[in-house]
Amino acid sequence: MKKYISLILAISMIFAVATIQTASVSAETNKKYIALTFDDGPNGTTCENILRTLRDFNVPATFFVIGERVNSSNQRTLKKMVNQGCQIASHSWNHADMKNWTYDQVVADFKKVSDAIYEQVQVRPTVMRLPNLTIPSFFYDYVDFPVPMMGGDGTSDWNQSVSTEERIQQVKKIACDGRIVLLHCFEGNDKTDEALQTIIPDLLADGYEFVTIDELFEKQNQEMTLDRQWSVVKRQPAPSTTTTTAPQKIKGDVNGDKKVNSLDLQAMLRLVADGKSGDLATCDIDNNGKFDILDLKALLQKIL
Ligand SMILES: [Zn+2]
Repeated sequence: MKKYISLILAISMIFAVATIQTASVSAETNKKYIALTFDDGPNGTTCENILRTLRDFNVPATFFVIGERVNSSNQRTLKKMVNQGCQIASHSWNHADMKNWTYDQVVADFKKVSDAIYEQVQVRPTVMRLPNLTIPSFFYDYVDFPVPMMGGDGTSDWNQSVSTEERIQQVKKIACDGRIVLLHCFEGNDKTDEALQTIIPDLLADGYEFVTIDELFEKQNQEMTLDRQWSVVKRQPAPSTTTTTAPQKIKGDVNGDKKVNSLDLQAMLRLVADGKSGDLATCDIDNNGKFDILDLKALLQKIL
């Protein structure tokens, strides 16, 4: 037991100086994903034009709709969104400032919008964007938001003095893998539709794939946690799976002698000291998709 205590001390010291390279096992590492989002719909004018543009380029987007505008008069537009593979999300019932709202008020508002959308197109929103991105104060008391909260970066395209060209340049400037792009489809916002005619083909040519919000999290292997307002969804390493190419590998058998014992702990310590990333099939003891100090602790527990 004593030698393990000294090993733990050695682990701590090594980790104080060593940098561990974590191995990404994503098969689609070179892909770049981006999510276009449009607030303040639905309507039968600008929303329709934007949907036509999206259809022309065969790309999806996410529409954050205002609940009180979701009714039979806009059912056709909402159906088009669904049929084109777009996602419909909540932008609150009536665009009220939510700063002083309670948790329960937010839940009730989301449910009301969800029911309205369901009544028209039989789908339910999974995420929400707050009006003006104003976060209720309860969130700052370490209370998770009741539903996944999406932010985004945009072009101030709600402001009519921002030209089409400026909208194009700004979106291209902020484009990166995992970016949520915040735009508006309220009636008369034609410059954003015009900008899309350039933004979409240029980003496609640059290797981007357009996805909805739900797809973005799925593609990036990122959990949609409730503790933040998401604006960029960074790619997480794929979870380690039991490998089919090397079934003979034993979890924890770092030195490859078909046994899991203290020699493996020493082998793992050596990997760390040499700054090596380690084979996930044997070194990722806690199965979280990467090799880090938790694996050393997990291996230690396994042996003790
Ligand atoms: Zn809005």
